[in-house]
Amino acid sequence: APAHAMPFTAPTGTRHPLPAPELGAAVRADDRAHVFHSWSAQSLIDPLPVAGGSGSTFWDYEGNAYLDFSSQLVNLNLGHGHPDLVEAIRHQAGRLATIQPSMASDVRGELARRIAEVAPGDLDRVFFTNGGADANEYAVRMARLVTGRRKVLSAYRSYHGATATAISLTGDPRRWANEPGDGSVAHFFGPYPYRSAFHSSTPEEEADRALAHLEQVIVLEGAETIAAIILETIVGTNGVLVPPPGYLAGVRELCDRYGIVYIADEVMVGFGRVGEWFAVNGFGVVPDLVTFAKGVNSGYVPLGGVIMSPWIAAYFDERPFPGGLTYSGHPLACAAGVATFEVFERDRILEHVRDLGERIVAPRLAAVADAHPSVGEVRGRGLFWAIELVRDQGTHEPLVPFNASGADAAPVAAVAAACKRAGLWPFTHFNRVHVAPPLVIAEEELAHGLDIIDEALDVADAHL
Ligand code: PLP
Repeated sequence: APAHAMPFTAPTGTRHPLPAPELGAAVRADDRAHVFHSWSAQSLIDPLPVAGGSGSTFWDYEGNAYLDFSSQLVNLNLGHGHPDLVEAIRHQAGRLATIQPSMASDVRGELARRIAEVAPGDLDRVFFTNGGADANEYAVRMARLVTGRRKVLSAYRSYHGATATAISLTGDPRRWANEPGDGSVAHFFGPYPYRSAFHSSTPEEEADRALAHLEQVIVLEGAETIAAIILETIVGTNGVLVPPPGYLAGVRELCDRYGIVYIADEVMVGFGRVGEWFAVNGFGVVPDLVTFAKGVNSGYVPLGGVIMSPWIAAYFDERPFPGGLTYSGHPLACAAGVATFEVFERDRILEHVRDLGERIVAPRLAAVADAHPSVGEVRGRGLFWAIELVRDQGTHEPLVPFNASGADAAPVAAVAAACKRAGLWPFTHFNRVHVAPPLVIAEEELAHGLDIIDEALDVADAHL
């Protein structure tokens, strides 16, 4: 690791506990009998019983350890068992476990102040929620109230959460079974140079054409009906799509021109994933509302929120805000958030992420792309990357079809299985393998994980 980085590693002796397969079987039996799981057909899933974790590794009851390249849904930025987070939560639980939202708590106030200090531009007020979906619900509600308009525009190939309006905003197949849902949402195409909806040949052209398209959607939907545009700053589960230069600034300009609130969804990329406090900071753009969750405290206690522009917060100075949550700014969650800021600053996590992204991941994945005929494109920044797998590098035909499942998804499932056999827990989605390890990962662990992925991609090549 570089001299400035102090990645957290497990205390000696805690990494590989004694295997206890019978215990694992009991955990699995309770789970299968009584736990109803997200998204999947319940009969098709086989959840791994996880016994514990430390740093970038977790292990099952059989004694198998996995290097975690998914960060548990791109959430566990500071890794398992981080002593600072554990101690902050323990300490807070002893002195004040919970208070109702209408009272003030020191940790809630300190966390809000710290978030305001690193937020884009002059955004300085925080409404706390329990996670990412409800953060987006509240951001949309705020935009509707301050504009007096109802409609929201969001991108195809986006994910904004699974609650009522958030799932309607979502621009991927997870929305379909929940339709018609919120009737005041319309979708548009965002930039995606590798699969351009606009037949662009350069990133600059893609930005220009995507902006011209967005303006047409605004005009045809009726600018005076549109409360907000919501955008993941870098699209996450739908492919780590980094916007080309000029795109986000252009969205800001369109929002200004038509009186539309710009909501940046930073649930996945906020708090260091790409080496910035917020990804949008790296594009020099200031949205009106920024939503966050996950990395704010590495998911140790559920927490999300909306960071607000002063003009939006001021709208509610003399009017009641119609909304609230029992757990808004829960002290245990906020204590873990304050500790997260302390760790980021002390251990220079942002620098560590940028360094590993530029020096280790980018060149290694470029080599992986050269070596494997199944790799169409690699893209990303910081510790947030996608490897897109194709049948044909010329036509870009995906190795598995969009919305693949069952036999259709087999080639990528086989890559995932090869990674797991080699001790790496991957994040795969349709025709992509993502690279999203905890931000505290050590350089040697990262290099080892990339070796495993490189080798597992031979399995994808064999499916061509
Ligand atoms: N927005 C984005 C960009 C996300 O990636 C996610 C979750 O993955 C969400 C919103 C929803 O967050 P949650 O699952 O906490 O409701």
